[in-house]
Amino acid sequence: MNRAAASDNYYRASLGEGPERRKLAGQITADVCVIGGGFTGLSAALHLANAGARVVLLEGETIGFGASGRNGGQIHTGLRQSQQHLERWLGEAHARDLWTLAEESKALMRELVARYAIDCALKDGLVIAAHDRAAARELVEETEYLRSHYGYAAARMMDADETARVLGTNVYPAARFDSGGGHLQPLAFARAIAEATERAAATIHEFTRALSLELERDHLRVVCESGAVECDRAILACDAFSAALAPELAPYIAHVESFMTATEPLSDDLYNAVLPCDAAVADTRHVLDYYRKSADRRMLFAGRETYWSMPRDIARIVRPRMEHVYPALKQVRSEYAWSGTVGITVTRMPHLGRLGERVLFAHGYSGQGVALANLGGKLMAEAVLGQPERFEVFARVPAKRFPGGTRFRKPLVTAALTWYKVLDYL
Ligand SMILES: Cc1cc2nc3c(=O)[nH]c(=O)nc-3n(C[C@H](O)[C@H](O)[C@H](O)COP(=O)(O)OP(=O)(O)OC[C@H]3O[C@@H](n4cnc5c(N)ncnc54)[C@H](O)[C@@H]3O)c2cc1C
Repeated sequence: MNRAAASDNYYRASLGEGPERRKLAGQITADVCVIGGGFTGLSAALHLANAGARVVLLEGETIGFGASGRNGGQIHTGLRQSQQHLERWLGEAHARDLWTLAEESKALMRELVARYAIDCALKDGLVIAAHDRAAARELVEETEYLRSHYGYAAARMMDADETARVLGTNVYPAARFDSGGGHLQPLAFARAIAEATERAAATIHEFTRALSLELERDHLRVVCESGAVECDRAILACDAFSAALAPELAPYIAHVESFMTATEPLSDDLYNAVLPCDAAVADTRHVLDYYRKSADRRMLFAGRETYWSMPRDIARIVRPRMEHVYPALKQVRSEYAWSGTVGITVTRMPHLGRLGERVLFAHGYSGQGVALANLGGKLMAEAVLGQPERFEVFARVPAKRFPGGTRFRKPLVTAALTWYKVLDYL
């Protein structure tokens, strides 16, 4: 087993460095300043620039440095809460509007990949694997509900035998195969969207951290270390890090560190035996295992979480999970291991909203942002362009505060998330 560093990101290593973009120097003006160069910010900037707005995007590091360039690349269906739960909580009409938008988020990814001919190994197929019999029963019920009430026919249940054949492992009692889901190389996607955004005449500054938002009489100033952007509107797209710029958002967003590994390329025999269907897989635990194979035939296996400190050896904590699911992978080395910060909310629903009249934000996709963050960016662009109706569908979802105030929030959130971890083993 290797000792890979937290920053040893396979996606970045396999693509190499992206194009260099200048740090902001001095004072500039724009219609809209987008802060954050992940899926949310890039999608907002692209849709605004395509509509003719003068857009400047500021990224504190490089494009895709955050969760968008480190994630599992899994495209999920729906939201982290079931439609039954959303109907009970928000009413049927609102739940249906959310479902329609979540479905659009998957279509949006595929449309962007096709429109800009993005080379990001996009594939259809996502399996949700039940980790025990109770989870299998829930999955059956939910899959049937989606079919009968939402007309969603792309997902079907598999029993234990079929699951074992399709996934090449017999650890699950049942699973749902969803051909509407899928997977892709997330950093390749983010970089291509950045290039499309620049072709649409937006400006991107990397290594440019926004330090504060200052409201002037008739405009907004986004202040950075080496300059400022005077703008009409700002879009806050910093996900887990939103609260550093807007402390009023701190009670609504928590950080969870999630871990990923990539093995060396698999031999032909292993490649065919392990996950033969080549879909992405996520299990039903609270602290889930999620995995898929890469285009260059590696197993990308992820799981475990920490809320406080970073492990010294990520591969060492992820490998036991991988070897439990695929004992045959004991013989292969982990070549890469890295981590990323997931922004989560109390409700596990994305949190979209406004800070005053000039700032919009979208964050907290709670581990399901590959498709939804791209949609979040698009909805903010629509709202800035005077069509806020679809943005409001998410903004109307009541956000809940994590308890504890500034001092005790982190220990309390850690205790709560650890409790969920314990539930996985009961
Ligand atoms: C390890 C991991 C695995 C995941 N797997 C999946 C998955 O398989 N499927 C799925 O649907 N979701 C997954 N997610 C979640 C998904 O990646 C995120 O929801 C999504 O990428 C969020 O995109 P974003 O643009 O909102 O945030 P980010 O991608 O985090 O982008 C925010 C950007 O803002 C920049 N920034 C922060 N502060 C400032 C500032 N002050 N000034 C300028 N720039 C700033 C950061 O550098 C960062 O680049 C995963 C997340 C992680 C971490």
